[in-house]
Order: sequence, then C-alpha cells, then structure tokens
Amino acid sequence: MNSVAIIGGGPAGLIAADRLAATHEVHVYEQGRTLGRKFLVAGEGGLNITNSAAGEELIAHYSPPDRMREILEAFGPAELRAWLEGLGVPPYVGSSGRVFPERGIKPAEVLKAIMERVNDNGVFVHTDHRFVGFDDEVRPLVEHAGTRAVIEAKIVVFALGGASWPKTGSTGTWTKHFESIGVRTVPFRASNCGVEVDLSDAIRVHAGKPLKNVAVSCGERSVRGEVTITEYGLEGNAIYPLVPAIREALEAGAAEITLDLKPDLTAEQIDDKLKDAAWKERMSALRLDRPSVTLLKTFTPFERYVDGRTMAEDVKRVQIPVTGLRPIAEAISTVGGIALDQVSPNLSLIMHPHLFVAGEMLDWDAPTGGFLLQGAFSTGHWAAAAIVKR
Ligand SMILES: Cc1cc2nc3c(=O)[nH]c(=O)nc-3n(C[C@H](O)[C@H](O)[C@H](O)COP(=O)(O)OP(=O)(O)OC[C@H]3O[C@@H](n4cnc5c(N)ncnc54)[C@H](O)[C@@H]3O)c2cc1C
Repeated sequence: MNSVAIIGGGPAGLIAADRLAATHEVHVYEQGRTLGRKFLVAGEGGLNITNSAAGEELIAHYSPPDRMREILEAFGPAELRAWLEGLGVPPYVGSSGRVFPERGIKPAEVLKAIMERVNDNGVFVHTDHRFVGFDDEVRPLVEHAGTRAVIEAKIVVFALGGASWPKTGSTGTWTKHFESIGVRTVPFRASNCGVEVDLSDAIRVHAGKPLKNVAVSCGERSVRGEVTITEYGLEGNAIYPLVPAIREALEAGAAEITLDLKPDLTAEQIDDKLKDAAWKERMSALRLDRPSVTLLKTFTPFERYVDGRTMAEDVKRVQIPVTGLRPIAEAISTVGGIALDQVSPNLSLIMHPHLFVAGEMLDWDAPTGGFLLQGAFSTGHWAAAAIVKR
C-alpha cells in the first residue's frame, strides 16, 4: 500500500484521511496535542456545519466561484450530510438553511465520531508533530519532542488552516516554508470579522445588544440579518458577508456601510406611521429600540434629525463610516494563504505535484452560514479523490 501523509488535523485533513484510508496507508501529523480544535471552537455557538443551498446558489457564496465549482459539485452539502449520517451524526436544517448536527449532539461528539472513523480505518495519528519546513528534495520536515524527521511519504496533503484564532493551532506561520520552495502565498487578511466604527459612549452603553432584522449594505451588496453593537464597532451575520466589500473599500481609501433599520417597510409606509405620532412618540410608533435610536441619532446630521421631515428616509439610510476591520486573531476566518494560481485543478502544487493543499490554507473566501466548514471538507475530499485517481 502506498502511504500518504496529511499534515494538519482539522476538518480538511480529517476528511482527506477518511477518503484515503481504503486505498492508502495514511498518517496524519498535527502540531497540537489534540485534533480539530478550531472545529470545536466553531461549535461553541452551535455547530453550523453546512448549508442547504445547492447548485449556483451555493457556488455564489464562494470566492472565487469558478475555482470552487467542481469541488463543491463533487462533494457539496448533500454529500457532507450523507457522510455525517454515515458517522451516526444526523444533521438537521435550521433557520435560513443553516445545517447543524441534530439537536443535543455536541461538537465534541461529532469530532469523536470522525476520530473513531479514522481510527477504525487504520489511520495513524501523530499529535505533537509540527511541520517546520522542507528538505532539499522538497520532503516535509516535522518536529516532535525536539527531534526533526523527514516525512518519506510520496504524496502529502497539507491542511494547515488559515490564521485566525491562533490558539487553536491555525497560526498561518507556515507560509514562509512554502515561499522557500517557490510557492507564492497571499498575505492573510481577516474575513467574517467585526468592523471598527468610531462610536460615542452613548452607543457603547449598548455593547452586546443586537439589532434584529436589519439590512446592511456596502457598495452593491446588501444583507439582511442581525447586527450587534460592540465596544469597538459592529459585528454579526449581517456584517460578515460584507467584509470583502468593506475590505476593498478600505483599501481604496474609505469605507461606509448603510443600515436600514426597517427593511420590511418602505419610506412611504414609515411616513404613514409617523404622520399622526407626536414628536416624542415617533420612535415607539416605529417600534425602534434604544440601541437603534441611538445609532440613528448619532449618524444622522443633527439638524436633519431635529427637523424630522426626512425621518422615514433616514431610518432606512443610516450611513456609518467604517475605520477598519478587526484583527485577524479575532476573525472567524481568513483569506490569503496559498495563491490559487499555484495549484492545479486537482489541488496539487503546480511546481511540486506530490504536494496537495486543502482547506482554509488556500486563498478562497466564503461567509458564515456553514459555508466555511463545507469548503474545508469539500477541498479535503477533492484532494483525496485526486490522489486515489492518480
Ligand atoms: C469562532 C469561530 C467560529 C466558527 N464557526 C463556524 C461555523 O459555524 N460554520 C462554519 O462553516 N465555519 C465556522 N468557522 C470556520 C471553520 O472552523 C474553519 O473554516 C475550519 O476549521 C477550517 O478547517 P481547516 O481544516 O482548513 O483548518 P483548521 O480547522 O484550522 O485546522 C488546521 C489544523 O492544522 C494544524 N496545523 C497548523 N499549522 C501546523 C504545523 N505547522 N504543523 C502541524 N499542524 C499544523 C492546526 O493545529 C489545526 O489543527 C468558525 C471559526 C471560528 C474561529
């Protein structure tokens, strides 16, 4: 049996191990003492493992979509759900198409089921083994208990993750090793993260409070969902998908988001609700809570707010300047890593075809909603399938 080494024991590495175990002797090397630490962190707020979106609707969530298309078509949400079922983890579809393990199944139990599967299939797991570079023959070197060893496997899958939440092991410090063998990497940047806004103390007292059912837009993109006020600015599921557009605007010089506090009402309908309301009752007539009113008041020019005649328009167009993105370490995911033009369609490195790359260490992006884990599982599966085929 040919052997394959997989370096990185997150979702991408583990599904690759599972896929390869039937045909290869598989060794997984992980620098931590345990595997799947980011997977467990991802599960803390509810393990949103994939999404029920399908076809072009699914692919549109990924950037760049064309590079992800055949990878997702080969192993998309339906296949991931079937795989989970096979592990004894029945998934269920929650609100807005998000897919979770059935109620009561904890993330640690899902990880245990995956680990049991790879163990039962005879995969060798080597924890406390850190990838530290390549030798002259472009073979990976791993360090364990102060000793360095060469990985002899003819085929290697790297699944080292991105650079957010470094305490989970995904530190992104490996880019220099790939640069040393001539592989171009793209600097990591935060994705699916909060945005920084100059907030007054009057707004900051509402830190932690969510504005529910709002619409936020940046450039052409608009997202419905929830926004939470934080000490530093804003975050939430209506902000994260806008991060690529916000990042681009910041890089071009300045970024602004527009908040619609009443996306279900037209300006005319708002005017209608306001017409008989006394000045002091206007916010309650619109059912706007305190945090929303404070934001509206802060980001609407004072004369305009006091005048009140443009209130309907202003409620639907709170313009908020964004001063920056939160640091990578706090982000849910990162973009950057191995540049996609460095890998063949089968996810092996063009310059070193015996080395495959999968998961978040590749320079693709997707919003929260289960699309990140799906992308990690899909690329891991795709690389493994290409190895089996080869
Ligand atoms: C707070 C938070 C919440 C999230 N919530 C969700 C969610 O609800 N839904 C969703 O789809 N996604 C979510 N994600 C994102 C998701 O967890 C990641 O996209 C996914 O874990 C990426 O998988 P991966 O296998 O590519 O990398 P990782 O899971 O990062 O695994 C990489 C592994 O490689 C190891 N490694 C790194 N460097 C080395 C080295 N030099 N030598 C050996 N091993 C090394 C690391 O220790 C790690 O175990 C969340 C992330 C965070 C931080």
